Amino acid sequence: MAIESDEVRTKAAELLDAGAHEPLDTMRHSAAHVMAAAVLELFPGAKLGIGPAIRDGFYYDFDLPRALTPADLEAIEERMRAQVAADLPFERTELDRPAAIEHLTTEGQDYKVEIVRELPDEDARVVSFYRHDSFSDLCRGPHVASTGRLGPFKLLNSAGAYWRGDEKRPMLQRIYGTVWEIQEDLDRYLWRLEEAKKRDHRKLGRDLDLFSFHPESPAAPFWHPRGMALWRALEDWSREVRASGGFSEVRTPSLVRKELWETSGHWELYQDNMFVLDDHDHVSGLKPMNCPQEILVYKTRSHSYRELPIRYADYSVLFRKELTGALSGMFRVRQLVQDDSHVFCRDDQVIDEINLALKLVRMQFAPFGVEPTFKLATRPEKRLGSDEFWDMAEGKLQTALDESGTPYSLDVGGAAFYAPKIDIFFEDALGREWQNATVQLDYQLPQRFDLEYRAADGGFERPAILHYAIYGSFERFTAVMTEHFAGAFPAWLAPVQAMIIPIADRHLEYAARVRDELTAAGMRAEVDDRSERMQAKLRDAQEQKVPVMLVVGDRDEEAGAVSPRLRTGESMQGVPLGEFVAELRRRVEARELWPYPQSGEAGAD
Ligand SMILES: [Zn+2]
Ligand SMILES: [Zn+2]
Repeated sequence: MAIESDEVRTKAAELLDAGAHEPLDTMRHSAAHVMAAAVLELFPGAKLGIGPAIRDGFYYDFDLPRALTPADLEAIEERMRAQVAADLPFERTELDRPAAIEHLTTEGQDYKVEIVRELPDEDARVVSFYRHDSFSDLCRGPHVASTGRLGPFKLLNSAGAYWRGDEKRPMLQRIYGTVWEIQEDLDRYLWRLEEAKKRDHRKLGRDLDLFSFHPESPAAPFWHPRGMALWRALEDWSREVRASGGFSEVRTPSLVRKELWETSGHWELYQDNMFVLDDHDHVSGLKPMNCPQEILVYKTRSHSYRELPIRYADYSVLFRKELTGALSGMFRVRQLVQDDSHVFCRDDQVIDEINLALKLVRMQFAPFGVEPTFKLATRPEKRLGSDEFWDMAEGKLQTALDESGTPYSLDVGGAAFYAPKIDIFFEDALGREWQNATVQLDYQLPQRFDLEYRAADGGFERPAILHYAIYGSFERFTAVMTEHFAGAFPAWLAPVQAMIIPIADRHLEYAARVRDELTAAGMRAEVDDRSERMQAKLRDAQEQKVPVMLVVGDRDEEAGAVSPRLRTGESMQGVPLGEFVAELRRRVEARELWPYPQSGEAGAD
């Protein structure tokens, strides 16, 4: 029922780290062992959590007597280097479960004891440990042959992390590090991290006057005029994509009584994430999702099989009771809008509708210059429904992926407990991977709400529901795209597409005429009429990453022309105004990645 939760599911078997099969992953996980050994040298009583390889590096969680400082990380790194220089071999040993528990208890490693206790029997017949020097760790392996095999590495930072992602369990300290095969790769990765800091959407949001955050409403952005212009551009595009897919738009209320959430299951499963309000004689909740309300719209009249599929788009405001204080800017907000889509369809239409969703995903991502990749998340261990149901539902998603020639990978066991889904990822300009979109196939809500349609034979049948959002939330997508483009948005997205810069005050009137022509053509243009020097205005517009600057002087005015200068450096003289307006409009309407390359992009400067 489309309860999208970020909760970390950490089964004991998954906590038995590793799963590292790529050579680089093996090296990364081995580096985590070396780091843990170094931490134990510095803090002899430290308790160990888990230490997996992750994308671009590794981490390890520690329970330590005090908070780590940057000087600690240097000392840990120093000791790691000594271990690498000593080229100590990794050796595997095996124990049965009781012996492993006894060994770890003697060592005072409570978290590891917990992992071994909870291992399913088939994983616990042989519990393996890897040792190098005097440090041994519960581990599935594999590892590099010896510590000397580690490539160039660096410890990055430390952060708090709850044991097993559970806020009711102890807060551990997680140290992140990165290791690569060659120095060049490490340097490139460290450059990417530096670049990511410069591109931080909270900083760019301030510098470009897009949005702000205020303690009076924590974890909820305040959108400024320029930010709203960007939002509208995103929204217009999403609406255009939905219209091409045969969607119609609905809007449903924010404040909804508890009874609806009880029927949908949110009351039982999602209440902790909802703002619950006392509404006179009733208990109500602010909606965290749109689906139950749209179902009420569907149920207002009877439907025949001929009417299906019915496709609703919904851009209303959602509320989620996220913890505040996390400095994650727009990545985690309490008030958000999704480009939400719900399709009510017959069973024989499900595959076509998934295909349509995949097509719309590709279409909507194209003008951002990112390539979506797809992952099919299959049945988890704990699930509702029979194996036949899962075979059928997974089969439909798989068939749609195959039929549309979409390459995909499998996320085995990654589905929600009630149905499989397709998760959609993309890499940004810095090579970071993001997941915003998900296509979810749902037979649960139709059943809970007793949905039906009249079939061809006159009987009643139950429709399926497909849930998807492509941007995900506008807030998060704006943050990702601000960092992806380093604030240098293509013209179709840019809050100000053209900044008109009069050379002298006598050109103000003509500058206003140029702006009006652009505005009349639907473009976003402003005149910089401050009494600054032209060079200063050009510099400011460049810093604001405005795609086109139009310097207007005597010659332009006489000829009814403009002299455009692009953010990327190209410039032209005396382009007839009408010609320029038509050209800009053409590029904006085609949603071209222009001007290109985006400034600040890798290799662009
Ligand atoms: Zn290991
Ligand atoms: Zn939904």
